[in-house]
Amino acid sequence: MALEPCTELPVKITADIPVLKERGQREVFCGLTGIVWLHRKMQDAFFLVVGSRTCAHLIQSAAGVMIFAEPRFGTAILGERDLAGLADANEELDRVVDQLLERRPDIGTLFLVGSCPSEVIKLDLAKAAERLSTRFFPKVRILNYSGSGIETTFTQGEDACLGSMVPVLPRSDEAGLMVVGSLADVVEDQFRRLFDKMGIGPVYFFPPRRAANLPPVGKGTKLLLAQPFLSDTVRSLVSRGATLLPSPYPLGIEGTTAWLKTAADAWNVDSKVFEDAIEPPVKRAKIALERYRQALTGRKAFLFPDSQLEIPLARFLSRECGMELVEVGMPYIDRLLMDKEIALLPEGTVLSEGQDVEKQLDRCREARPDITVCGLGLANPLEAEGMATKWSIELVFSPIHGYDQAADLAELFARPLERRRRLTV
Ligand code: SF4
Repeated sequence: MALEPCTELPVKITADIPVLKERGQREVFCGLTGIVWLHRKMQDAFFLVVGSRTCAHLIQSAAGVMIFAEPRFGTAILGERDLAGLADANEELDRVVDQLLERRPDIGTLFLVGSCPSEVIKLDLAKAAERLSTRFFPKVRILNYSGSGIETTFTQGEDACLGSMVPVLPRSDEAGLMVVGSLADVVEDQFRRLFDKMGIGPVYFFPPRRAANLPPVGKGTKLLLAQPFLSDTVRSLVSRGATLLPSPYPLGIEGTTAWLKTAADAWNVDSKVFEDAIEPPVKRAKIALERYRQALTGRKAFLFPDSQLEIPLARFLSRECGMELVEVGMPYIDRLLMDKEIALLPEGTVLSEGQDVEKQLDRCREARPDITVCGLGLANPLEAEGMATKWSIELVFSPIHGYDQAADLAELFARPLERRRRLTV
């Protein structure tokens, strides 16, 4: 996705929403982090990063204790001989893949994940995946994508991973709904039940729980995005004939209702059937949310760019939790995927795209927000300056979508405020 030239001056993208475009030093994860949640979602997949010790350290620290649970990810570390071009990196890679597949016969799909070092030495992982596939397919499918920091930011790793699967999805022009973006299994089950009640189907979730059960795609496929960071995947699916149903994202009660309604309208679901299906979970969610709404109302929020979830989160925080938005930062704003959300932001919301971290920190310090949503690198230093923070990575790892998670989502923001209150003497 191309960034527009840096203007540093607010540009109006809709009547009342100015966007501050900045470029400079950034504080974000690279796309390798996506492996941490993707390997939990697709239970027959293995992610082999072809990178350096830095990449291995990153994954180990992001995955925390998971590394002790025989995880389905690892790093083929490029040694000095590979980097100096003395060893044939392709031969070494084949050897590592042989060993891995022999040791782990449960692997059905293997992703070769590119990194900064593999890109810099121009190791052609796409070719390697093709070569290895001819040896191991159909028992194991071998795909490739890049999670490097040069090309991808944080959740874009999921976009790149799903994008690598699009060309191998089976073709079918039958009508069907494809929910795109990884969701916790429990959330997926809740949505499936709601779609069933409304008579919407067949419904496919992408990514699937088993990478071997790939959903079909074609002219009858309607795409409903569960995650807002899938720009390239959506475009590839559209190029295979699918149609995008633009919608707000299923965060909070309002977002979930709008999201389900988008699907219901595409399936011509009767409004009474729709209302009956959503009534019980909406009622439950309203009661559960009320407690946190009281804690959050009138508080100021500042969101640093990180996961691309910032705009839907800001919409939820302002409209359903009564929070004031100081600034909403996004690494990129893809209008195709974001317009429905931007339209729901309160008038005058300050949006920023890209980052110049020092300038943004200055704005944040000046505004003294009650809660700052940011990455781990900024969180503790800001806490030390007396500001309450919410780590944005938790928003990607926790189930936050759908009605039954609306209160949990609000609680994630109320918790740091409550902790600060308790610790203040
Ligand atoms: S892929 Fe690049 S940014 Fe990510 S850990 Fe490896 S070297 Fe660092």
